[in-house]
Amino acid sequence: MNRTLPVTKNDYIDVVFEDLTHDGAGVAKIDGYPLFIPNGLPGEKAKVKVIKVNKSYGIGKLIELYEKSPYRVEIAKSDAHKYGGCQLEHISYEGQLKYKENQVRQVLTRIGKLEDVKIHPILGMDNPWHYRNKAQVPVGEKDGKLVAGFFKPRSHEIVDTNESLIQLPEVNEAVQMVKDICSELGISAYHEESHKGVIRHIMARYGKQTGELMVVLITRTTDISHKNKLVEEIVARLPKVKSIVHNVNSKRTNVILGEKTNLLWGNEVIYDYIGNVKFAISALSFYQVNPVQTKVLYDKALEYANLSGEETVIDAYCGIGTISLFLAQKARKVFGVEVVPEAIEDAKRNAALNGMTNADFAVGEAEVVIPKWYKEGNAADVLVVDPPRKGCDEALLQTIIEMKPKKVVYVSCNPATLARDLRILEDGGYKTLEVQPVDMFPQTTHVECCALLKKI
Ligand code: SAH
Repeated sequence: MNRTLPVTKNDYIDVVFEDLTHDGAGVAKIDGYPLFIPNGLPGEKAKVKVIKVNKSYGIGKLIELYEKSPYRVEIAKSDAHKYGGCQLEHISYEGQLKYKENQVRQVLTRIGKLEDVKIHPILGMDNPWHYRNKAQVPVGEKDGKLVAGFFKPRSHEIVDTNESLIQLPEVNEAVQMVKDICSELGISAYHEESHKGVIRHIMARYGKQTGELMVVLITRTTDISHKNKLVEEIVARLPKVKSIVHNVNSKRTNVILGEKTNLLWGNEVIYDYIGNVKFAISALSFYQVNPVQTKVLYDKALEYANLSGEETVIDAYCGIGTISLFLAQKARKVFGVEVVPEAIEDAKRNAALNGMTNADFAVGEAEVVIPKWYKEGNAADVLVVDPPRKGCDEALLQTIIEMKPKKVVYVSCNPATLARDLRILEDGGYKTLEVQPVDMFPQTTHVECCALLKKI
């Protein structure tokens, strides 16, 4: 045991929580040594038990709360609540928004060293429940019946539930219905250890504006017994279904989707609208999960781009062209880049669907395609990026710095990588003018931001 640490395993100590971790645990500091304690909230005083001691941090368990945070709310103690992916459910929505906004401010100052940037109050939802338009739910077996729900933390046990508090009711209903039908038809669940059994995941996606539902069955085997009956029952019991897709994942892996996808019934895509723009969404494409807040976020991106109709815009990490087509309404020309070929097919189809002829799309890595365009003499007046959590590739940031678009609009799902990248762009001649946090994922620790940078 390292004697220099201020706590020892099995100690009972009194603490005051100062902060929250990225997965929503309370942080208390003992002589500077951080202890992470699930369910503790900033400002609360509590007795905790130290259950694990590492070199740089420890883990504790909440034993008794002496003083409660005004933001603490009581939650039902059901499994759905505990395992439903809602890390911040024990905090009132007002408290969640405050925490997220603070997090953005702290990270931009600490990592980004951005001192005088205007960070706006976070834009939250009027109703922060049942907002997700998509679920991917693992399927298992218990007592001879299929179960579908959430993995218990750090385990492979699936808790059966249809109570997700953040998914749209149509999505919850679809997952449960498909599970019941599979159960009735005797279709077996995939078993990880033996790598036997058939159904691995049920995915459902719902177009909130159109009322169209897609069901994706993800199986280990190419064949599903009673396939016709299965399709027939899904169609009969879920009247909103417009597309039933089969994805085969025969590997031993935690990755959900496999490589082979085929249509079992209906259309290959479902449709949805964001604002006035119509989108076709196929089974494998990324599509934002919170349709209400997506509109808020894209409106902000459009406002920051402040287009006059003369500009050439590049939309890096464009997915199925959602932001690109939003911008194309106001730009002379938009070029979208995205690494998933199916998403680019969707993007092209979406441009045609909306009669937009001023948007072009290319498959490839943004950090490869955009430098190539630049070398060929193609530059943008406005550049939009919306990268995954790891942020932009350094090569892309360097190209932006050389290309010198007048404005960069950075849409980010991870404040830490946003801050890192803003610092690089600032050092390369850009100034971050404004950052707008948007709550796309209520009840979870995730926070989205839209930032506006100007060439100085
Ligand atoms: N702007 C879109 C998608 C954002 S998600 C929307 O709002 O819907 C990020 C997207 O980046 C995903 O579609 C992912 O497939 C894509 N992506 C990941 N790495 C990439 C890379 N290196 N180059 C281009 N696209 C990438």
